[in-house]
Amino acid sequence: MDTSRRSFLKGAAGAAAAAAATTLAIPAEAARAPKKWDIKTDVVVVGFGGAGATTAISAARSGAQVVVLEKNPENRHISNTRMSGGIFHCPFKDGDPKALEDYAQAMMSGENIPWKEEGEIPEYSKPLAKLWAEYTPKNLEFMQSLDPAFIGGSQPGFNKASFGNFPGAKECKYNAYRATYQKRMKSFNDVSYGCPKEETSSGEAFWQCLATGVKKEGKKIRVLWETPAYQLVKNPKGEVIGVLAKKGGKTVSVMARKAVVLCSGGYEYNKAMREAFLEGPGVTGWAFYGTTSNTGDGIAMGMAAGAGLQKAGKSAARIIVPTLDKFNGMRIGSITPSVGSPHSFVVDNFGNRYEAETKVTDNPSRYFFYKAAVQFNISTLSYPRTPSWMIFDDQLFKSKPLVALGISVVGFGLTKWSKDNTSALNSGLILKADTIAELAEKIKKVEENKGRMVTENLVKATERFNKFCDEKKDEDFGRRPVTLGKVEKGPFYAMPLVAGGPNTKGGLLFDGRHRVLTWEGKPIPRLYLVGEISSVMKFVYQGGGNLTECLVYGQSVGKEVAKLPNLKA
Ligand SMILES: Cc1cc2nc3c(=O)[nH]c(=O)nc-3n(C[C@H](O)[C@H](O)[C@H](O)COP(=O)(O)OP(=O)(O)OC[C@H]3O[C@@H](n4cnc5c(N)ncnc54)[C@H](O)[C@@H]3O)c2cc1C
Repeated sequence: MDTSRRSFLKGAAGAAAAAAATTLAIPAEAARAPKKWDIKTDVVVVGFGGAGATTAISAARSGAQVVVLEKNPENRHISNTRMSGGIFHCPFKDGDPKALEDYAQAMMSGENIPWKEEGEIPEYSKPLAKLWAEYTPKNLEFMQSLDPAFIGGSQPGFNKASFGNFPGAKECKYNAYRATYQKRMKSFNDVSYGCPKEETSSGEAFWQCLATGVKKEGKKIRVLWETPAYQLVKNPKGEVIGVLAKKGGKTVSVMARKAVVLCSGGYEYNKAMREAFLEGPGVTGWAFYGTTSNTGDGIAMGMAAGAGLQKAGKSAARIIVPTLDKFNGMRIGSITPSVGSPHSFVVDNFGNRYEAETKVTDNPSRYFFYKAAVQFNISTLSYPRTPSWMIFDDQLFKSKPLVALGISVVGFGLTKWSKDNTSALNSGLILKADTIAELAEKIKKVEENKGRMVTENLVKATERFNKFCDEKKDEDFGRRPVTLGKVEKGPFYAMPLVAGGPNTKGGLLFDGRHRVLTWEGKPIPRLYLVGEISSVMKFVYQGGGNLTECLVYGQSVGKEVAKLPNLKA
């Protein structure tokens, strides 16, 4: 690694602390207009990730002046958009548009699936799906309109509809790309953050393209770095007319003549919201592998202004390793693609397997596997799978890094993990023993296990798993046969896994135009949202859907707010 990148990452590691310092208390009500505004503009965008950048570009292209408020400093800007895999949907243009709309609606709410019982966003899924069908086939074109050098790389397994039995799945000709500036894309283990644009792939390339588009708009878009928003401002008519933010300890008031758009991401690092919204032990039993800057500020600000909530507990999540590094008392998770690899299996706290491990990392189950992990035992009144344990042997330990090193928290310097996995072993996160029975005894002593591990169960689970490997058939859970490699060569290892993933999806209530709604379903005038602060994909999720919604609804909302009449004095 060259020295400039090393010092860049050193700065990035400090970003967790920087974000902590700027995590502000959000008042429980909207503010009244200040006597004098510090800044006046047409549209205020809160948060500068994929959603904020696209909204700003679209509003500016439609003639509006935009101010973007961003919590992070420019030189340590870590958003989920940048940390991501950079996969975004772009169905082929010769697909059937009606089929695309049907497929999108099925993913969003399931309203049009015959066996679906209750829609997640029933009233609004139709107009939202219509916009999806209108914009997604042009997503690559949109990105290349910002920067012609941007490439839509092909990502194996993502070039089709994930839900083959949904209406429209075949005829819509679904497809997705991975963002890159390189003809030979970097792998998820190669770092892009801090590299020159031409050397980036994944989320960092996606971000560099948007950032290029923002720059192109010149003075129409002004980004205020290190300026976290903390309160919306309403006038006596109930319209949202601006935002209060902090800059260097002082309040900055920014008036919006047209609208405020909340794009501040989810609540991955808000302890109180995790406790309130997530199933199971929301703080200790969960971890996320995105930015520590997403602390639910926009959700709290919207609620203080009268907004309702929608499926707040939904998350794009599976089971991942919680590292020993913490932010505000919450363990930083790491993306764990090794789950389901040969020479490994997963057990609950008692030493019993409970699902096909390949479902943890396969598409599309990896986006909702957490539902299996937070299972509650109604007899013992406990969560037997919190944490779960990945049991593996020396063959897997030595063969590859167990977490992704290039994207997510390692690639962005929020935690460390050595390529040979020894850092996790030396820190005590990974347990090691000569026999499976000894490993069980070690697990029993880990605080989170609460002495529940039953040695006999783990020994039997290993023997049974190895038998299935010999027979090339997992009779208990139907794990993908090609992954059935025996856990046989000691030493043996155990690594904790908790519910978690990239981001939360539930949040504020909004309508088919992304206007924020009260609990009664009335729009709060001039308040909008875009992005994972409240995703459209609350029913199920196809990989790449989050960046896609940033592009689709960033564009539609940007256009809409730019056309709103200015506030009357
Ligand atoms: C490792 C990883 C891999 C992923 N891979 C993919 C993928 O391949 N494809 C896909 O579609 N999705 C992926 N996702 C999910 C996707 O990246 C996010 O859901 C999406 O980028 C969200 O965009 P956003 O703009 O809503 O939020 P973000 O990109 O997180 O941006 C939110 C911004 O708001 C700022 N902010 C927060 N609070 C405030 C405040 N009070 N004031 C001002 N600013 C504030 C934050 O600092 C941040 O910059 C991945 C996520 C992760 C973490």
